[in-house]
Amino acid sequence: MSAPQSPVQRADFDQFMVPNYAPAAFIPVRGEGSRVWDQGGRELIDFSGGIAVNALGHGHPALMKALTEQASKLWHLSNVYTNEPALRMARQLVESTFAERVFFANSGAEANEAAFKLARRYGHDVSGGSRYEIIAMINSFHGRTLFTVSVGGQPKYSEGFGPKIEGITHVPFNDLDALKAAISEKTCAVVIEPIQGEGGVLPAEQGFLQGARELCDAHGALLIFDEVQSGVGRSGYLYAYMHYGVVPDILTSAKSLGGGFPIGAMLTTEKLASHFSVGVHGSTYGGNPLGCAVGSALLEVVNTPEVLDGVKARYERFRTALESMADKYGIFSGVRGMGLLIGALLSEPWKGKAKDVLTAANEEGLMVLQAGPDVIRFAPSLVISEADIDEGLARLERAIARITQA
Ligand SMILES: *Cc1c(COP(=O)(O)O)cnc(C)c1O
Repeated sequence: MSAPQSPVQRADFDQFMVPNYAPAAFIPVRGEGSRVWDQGGRELIDFSGGIAVNALGHGHPALMKALTEQASKLWHLSNVYTNEPALRMARQLVESTFAERVFFANSGAEANEAAFKLARRYGHDVSGGSRYEIIAMINSFHGRTLFTVSVGGQPKYSEGFGPKIEGITHVPFNDLDALKAAISEKTCAVVIEPIQGEGGVLPAEQGFLQGARELCDAHGALLIFDEVQSGVGRSGYLYAYMHYGVVPDILTSAKSLGGGFPIGAMLTTEKLASHFSVGVHGSTYGGNPLGCAVGSALLEVVNTPEVLDGVKARYERFRTALESMADKYGIFSGVRGMGLLIGALLSEPWKGKAKDVLTAANEEGLMVLQAGPDVIRFAPSLVISEADIDEGLARLERAIARITQA
């Protein structure tokens, strides 16, 4: 028996896997830079980046080197021992952000789970139990564990699983008056995505983030920024908070942080970190040497003026082309986002049809994302070449021409 060699096909998904996803009809098998090939050898351009994960595209030499070198040394230890890659990566994160301490997890949801537990623990420690409320934003997304769907502001993800985590309030995003009305001495934390990703690629307003910081300070609440999607260079800044100049108490990072290797991190201050004393929280894999070796190499490449300025320039290239498609075909009513996290809003007649655009793009050899039913989302490699951007946009235009003329 040579099981790994036996052919597999898309139909196997329906036969062997839990049906909580609806993957495309083709199966990608190989990637290089921003190009991907499927089982039949068809080539696609990747504007989806594994949902804002493959920050350096596929098979980047620096990440390949870091992973294979570490793979030949040491794969895993658990947190009974520390390891060199984790220490290196934690130091890099501290030296390049507001943070003084780092906790490693394996995903965005786990980084947020740590952040929310830390906020609750902080509230418990400072108040003796009366400060536990978390204020989150309507339409926000923070992951799929029970705590993170309860904090997330999308009922479709949190309903139907029995009782939710209690003590969570939701207010409209970018509505400072609503936040002001909701915050109190019971609030332990306010949680915001500086750019709402899953909610439709919607950047926060400057005044909202600044006002939220002031309200938190006035009420003794922590400000948590979920930068799982907006972080690690995607906005054209290492973290989007740096663009706004508003500093959180806790920041969560994942997705692009490992460039495709699963890793997450919660960043915070020394003072807050002290509430996670020995045994209060933990993870078997968190801070795994393989993940941290890759994440460390990735930060070294991404956190440079060349890459970050390159992200801003690439945004302009996308925006210009998408706005011209909006004029020509009437399919988009606007383009929003920052850096290489871009959303094109479907115009009134196309509302709800994001999936149709994705399918048409796939047929033209292009991978794109949706962010809800009304937004086409682009989250490509931060170092995608101009030629690949132009070719991908040409394929998108062919897809749009076809469906708008059908
Ligand atoms: C994707 C995402 C998460 C969840 O990350 P997972 O790695 O899927 O657990 C949390 N917050 C935001 C803002 C995200 O975009």
